[in-house]
Amino acid sequence: RVNGAIVVLVRNSELDGLRKSMRMFEDRFNRKFKYPYILLNDQNFTQEFRDGVASITNNEVRYGMLDSSLWGYSPSVTPEETDVMLERNKHEYLYGGNLSYRFMCRFQSGLFYHHPLVRDLDWYWRLEPDVEYYCDIDYDPFVFMRDNGIKYGFTIAPRENKKTVKSLWYHTREWIKKNTDMLPEKSLVNWVMGTDGNYNMCHFWSNFEIVDLSLYRSEAYESYFSYLDNAKGFFYERWGDAPVHSIAASLLLAKSEIHWFEDIGYKHPGNMHCPRDEAMHAKCICDANKSY
Ligand code: GDP
Ligand code: MN
Repeated sequence: RVNGAIVVLVRNSELDGLRKSMRMFEDRFNRKFKYPYILLNDQNFTQEFRDGVASITNNEVRYGMLDSSLWGYSPSVTPEETDVMLERNKHEYLYGGNLSYRFMCRFQSGLFYHHPLVRDLDWYWRLEPDVEYYCDIDYDPFVFMRDNGIKYGFTIAPRENKKTVKSLWYHTREWIKKNTDMLPEKSLVNWVMGTDGNYNMCHFWSNFEIVDLSLYRSEAYESYFSYLDNAKGFFYERWGDAPVHSIAASLLLAKSEIHWFEDIGYKHPGNMHCPRDEAMHAKCICDANKSY
């Protein structure tokens, strides 16, 4: 067993969606493996919320609040200029004009693993409201990863909307130029960088991710996140934690340290993964023909 937990950032208003996710997650995996849940929120969790969660699981649930050091603006931006940019971007893409979405992406990108309830964990598995788990998971993916030297696990890898990350690759390259000494000799950089040298928009869909947190707490990742936080794009563009985590994992890890959990059938609104492999599919209740 590892020192790990299931970590969920969630709003009080998402109780029903979280109960649905947890019901399936418990049934497919966690009733057997009993990892604690850590629920985080920028507001106080209501009693109704806590009661609603408690009736879904017998496992331990810890509740945490985010203070302004974890939920807020990048030091490099101003609220006034952010308002201008949100107004400009609001019809450009989903969440283009949404401020709390920016706080969320910044928190998930570079801050969650410093939260007092998370900072002593070695591993985390991210869960969200309104996701579905289709396959019986009869082994411990954390242990599987640890025993095989894997640091990052994903299920779905779509392409990002270019408009949301206009200058992310430019700043990534600037960071690389200044920090080549932090980069390993072998990495998966060609998974995110096309032959033209640009970002190809590939990313691991981070609403599901299982991660050895030493990746995010590494000097290189912390340096990369701070650099991006200074570059303003979490607010003036809409950089998501998915491309940020994915680019970093690809730059900092070897291919053998990244794992596709093909056997974990999973859906987050928008995309679904269902294993096509027959032996894997035997444990699932999803339609492989509809898999992403
Ligand atoms: P999407 O998956 O990109 O469409 O974004 P979501 O709305 O699902 O947000 C991602 C995660 O962050 C989910 O677990 C949400 O519950 C959570 N989240 C998003 N915005 C907020 C917020 O303002 N407050 C809190 N507490 N959680 C949030
Ligand atoms: Mn979501």
